[in-house]
Order: sequence, then structure tokens, then C-alpha cells
Amino acid sequence: MPHLMNTYKRLPVAFTHGQGCRLFDEQGKSYLDALAGIAVNTLGHNHPRLVKALGEQLGRLIHTSNLYRVGEAELVSDRLAAISGMDEVFFCNSGCEANEAAIKLARLYGHQQGIEQPTVIVMEQAFHGRTLATLSATGNRKVQAGFEPLVTGFVRVPFDDLDAIEQLAARNPNVVAVLFEPIQGEGGINIAHHDFMRSLRRICDQKNWLFMVDEVQCGIGRTGIWFAHQHAGILPDVMTLAKGLGSGIPIGACLAAGRASGVFKPGNHGSTFGGNPLACVAALTTLDVIADDALMLRASTLGDRIRDALRNGLADVGGLVEVRGDGLMIGVELDRPCTELVALGLEAGLLINVTADKVVRLLPALTMSDAEADELVSGLVPLIKKFLEAK
Ligand SMILES: *Cc1c(COP(=O)(O)O)cnc(C)c1O
Repeated sequence: MPHLMNTYKRLPVAFTHGQGCRLFDEQGKSYLDALAGIAVNTLGHNHPRLVKALGEQLGRLIHTSNLYRVGEAELVSDRLAAISGMDEVFFCNSGCEANEAAIKLARLYGHQQGIEQPTVIVMEQAFHGRTLATLSATGNRKVQAGFEPLVTGFVRVPFDDLDAIEQLAARNPNVVAVLFEPIQGEGGINIAHHDFMRSLRRICDQKNWLFMVDEVQCGIGRTGIWFAHQHAGILPDVMTLAKGLGSGIPIGACLAAGRASGVFKPGNHGSTFGGNPLACVAALTTLDVIADDALMLRASTLGDRIRDALRNGLADVGGLVEVRGDGLMIGVELDRPCTELVALGLEAGLLINVTADKVVRLLPALTMSDAEADELVSGLVPLIKKFLEAK
């Protein structure tokens, strides 16, 4: 047995290399990758531009620390500001760290307004990470159980429910921010209505709350636009990013705008690795390739193609609840727990995921070809059919 701590129930396969949307295991078997390392490998595996840029950076400079200026981080911050309309960026190494930064920023913002017990509104089925603050913000008891006492300062409402937030606005003077995912990933591909986001934006303005979006999974072009909240035509005060930003090189970011900018001062927050030259070159190259190769349009049309084909293929099958999503965030909800589909997919050479027990989740690279998308659907439809008919 390897000496790994037992935190994951892993599938019995190890990959040795990848190319585009294909992964190859130790036996040389090939798999179609419809998960992309959980929405991380934005450009697929072994992308030539990423490999070249990272290779050159490795030979130049990997890390210097944030005690000095980091030119590559300055460049990524400018690029992120340009595509998001946000003002400033804090770099870290993961999604939970980005959300920790957002939660700390909201608390400090509250204290600066004289609110001594600042409270952040969070949502049911939310996933914000595994650190103590972010698991406390997460709306899934399984993530929290055993780790009490939880971090206080959160109040939970149903997802996409404006009434519940209006009630809190009327009676809770400690609220300083709302944190939510425009599209919940781990929670089962649940999409916040654009009207909800616009109304919430108005409430936040009236109440001086921070409008904070966790785009760790749905951001970076995946839904056919740089950031999923942009579909609603609004600008958040805080946005967090990670997963797809570095195409596999760990990097996270917490962005601030408007009344959230300027809250952190030297000494308030930090990260040893955050925004190092290597990670920033990964982010810069990822953003460049998405723009140069029109991968957002690709995500949008490919996502529609896959959803349409899945709806057609599963049209007369009992047990399908809904095919939903936006761009390349795709959920197929069944009427029963279906985790075993992951192992069946693996056997069939298809890498898929199941989340929230009943939702088959697809998060392929933005570089997936039409032929690969069709292969994905023609592999997945019979698997789901067989599974539903067997029970
Ligand atoms: C994955 C995820 C996180 C946590 O990211 P880590 O890098 O695993 O810490 C936070 N929020 C959302 C929406 C996620 O999908």
C-alpha cells in the first residue's frame, strides 16, 4: 500500500500520459476525458502552447515570493481586470484559498463599517471548499460532519431564492455579503436565474452588502462567456477563481471591485506561493489560448450540441429527470442515485463524474472536438439506458 492518507476513494486506474481529450493508463488503454481533472484542464492535456510557455518559464524563473514585484502576476492581474471589469486581484493556489480570501475580505469590510459580528449569506447545496471557513460556508452536511465547531458568521438560504434574501435584508443587521455560485457545480449543476442575480445585485447596492460570486468551477470561459455571472449583465464586488485558470498548474484568485477594492492592506492577507511566475504563465497562456482560439464560442456551441444529443438519445427513457447546464458545464439528472455509472464509464473508456448522488456531470476541456463530443454522447447514452433499465 502507498503511504497516501486515505482521503479519497480512488478509482483503480492511474494515467501515464494524455493528449487533448484522451488519457492513457498504465496498460495503454485509452479513455475519452469528459471531466478534465474536474474542470481544471481547460486546454486539454499536453497543449503545445501551454507546454512551450511553461517549459520556457521553468528555465527562466519558477518562484521568488511576494516580497518582490512579480511581473507575470502583474500581467495576469491586468488581463483578469480587462475581461472581468474588476479592479484588483489577490493570487493564491486553490479554490478554497480564493474563498478564504473573499470571506476574510467581507469580514474586514464589515468591521470597517462598524459591524462587529459580520455575517455572510450562503446557499443550500453550495460548495466552497474544505478548509474550516469554506466547509462552514458549504451547504452539504457530509462536508461538515465531524469538523465541528464550524466557523460562525454564515447564514444559509435556499439557492436562487430572492424572497429568503429579502427577509434577511429586513431583519439581520449583521449581513455584510452574499456568497454564491452562479452555477453550482458539486451541488448538481444548478443554475441561478439571471433575474435572481440582477435583483440580488440591487439588494446588495441598497444594503451596502458585497455581492460575491464563487466562479471557481463555472468561470474561465466554461459557460460560453468569461465568467458565468456576465450572462446576467452584472458586475460583482468579489469574484473567486481557481480550477480552470491555470490548466492544471495550481493557481487561485480573489478579485475585488467597487466598494470591495482597497479593503485589504499590507499585512491583512498573504500567500507564500500565490501568483508565482510559473503559475501566472500557466494562467496567462490559458487566457491567451481561450481568446485566440475562440474557445468560449466553442464551449457554448459544443455544450448545446452535447445537451441536444443527450436529450434526443434519452428521450424515451424512464428515469431521466433533466439534461441541463450552460456551455461545458453539463448535468444529467436521474431519478435515482447513480454513482456506479462512473465505474461503468471507466470500463467503457469514458471519464465522467456523478455529483449530488443523482447527477451525471460532464466538464470536458474547452478544446474538445465535435467528433469527440459525439463519441462521448454515443458512449454515455447506452450506459445510462442500461443502468436505468437494469433497476
Ligand atoms: C472545487 C471548488 C472549490 C474548491 O476548490 P479547491 O481548489 O479544491 O480548494 C470551491 N468552490 C467551487 C465552486 C468549486 O467547484
